Amino acid sequence: MSVELDDPARRWYEPGVFTVAPGVHRIPLPLPDELRAVNVYAVEGNDGFTLIDSGLVLDAARTQLEAALKDLGGGLGDVRQFLVTHVHRDHYTQAVAVRRDFGARVGLGVGEQPSLAVVSNPASTPYRHQLASLRRNGAEKVADELTAVLPEESVPHSAWEAPDEWLQPGTVVRAGHRGLEAKATPGHTQGHLVYFDRAACLLFGGDHILPHITPSIGLEPVPGESPLGDYLDSLRAVRLLPDARLLPAHGPVIDSSHARIDELLRHHDTRLQLTAEAVVQGAATAYEVSEALRWTGREREFATLPPRHQMMAVIETVWHLALLEVRGVVTSEERNGTIRFAPASTG
Ligand SMILES: [Zn+2]
Repeated sequence: MSVELDDPARRWYEPGVFTVAPGVHRIPLPLPDELRAVNVYAVEGNDGFTLIDSGLVLDAARTQLEAALKDLGGGLGDVRQFLVTHVHRDHYTQAVAVRRDFGARVGLGVGEQPSLAVVSNPASTPYRHQLASLRRNGAEKVADELTAVLPEESVPHSAWEAPDEWLQPGTVVRAGHRGLEAKATPGHTQGHLVYFDRAACLLFGGDHILPHITPSIGLEPVPGESPLGDYLDSLRAVRLLPDARLLPAHGPVIDSSHARIDELLRHHDTRLQLTAEAVVQGAATAYEVSEALRWTGREREFATLPPRHQMMAVIETVWHLALLEVRGVVTSEERNGTIRFAPASTG
């Protein structure tokens, strides 16, 4: 590998080291799923690197990260700190493994405490919260199918350990000569942070703002009350920052954080409207609403999605319905363990 200037025309997930700004490099690391890769960003400092996110604990990812840092004139032992955007395994778990071997410091948003406590507990089973939610929302079939494929997907409990520092939103973290402002952006997960380099106008966006896909909402063991409401508020809060170059965790670097935020806000407006219409047409459970909607950029029918994507679709719908209920558009009632929605009476 060699260090190259980043080029938005190339496939973003190809391995390498791509310079996105002076002293800031994008290092895509492999993932075994359809996301293909996660971008780790290496920020140079006078005493070593700060890495934003870490990748999944995976031999191939470790090898590629090591090779990339070598091209930058260092190695894993030169990683001073990891600033992790959120607790999902593709962002967090390699930081824990590298810390074990080399002693780097790991920082994670304090809002991730409840979810980390669950995933690191040996007694907890993967997706327990989500499976329970599926069953209460009419999607027993999805829950059953998902349960059958789960074991091959899980990361061992031992891969999870507490960070060295639970970062408070608003903290300014030093990375070489830079100050990175940790901004609370709950929604994708409760404790999600983005890191903003105000001087260089760079936004390390994690999974809060992705250029090609819409981030999943509240897909975590301990979600908040209204993750979609939180997410939309977080988008509006980041929209108040200066327009910045967006350095996302999945996908290519793009020039305008504002333009993408506007698209994401419009997307959720449309989805909320379609969700409300489906309820008016008689879909009563989140499962039925999910079946009535189309999914992914390719407008796929719900039934054609693999179980894990069906889970994500139903959970996404649950949060859209929850926000519509907060807004007084629909009402819900739980009977015999199933939550059913109806249009709010207008009279
Ligand atoms: Zn994530």
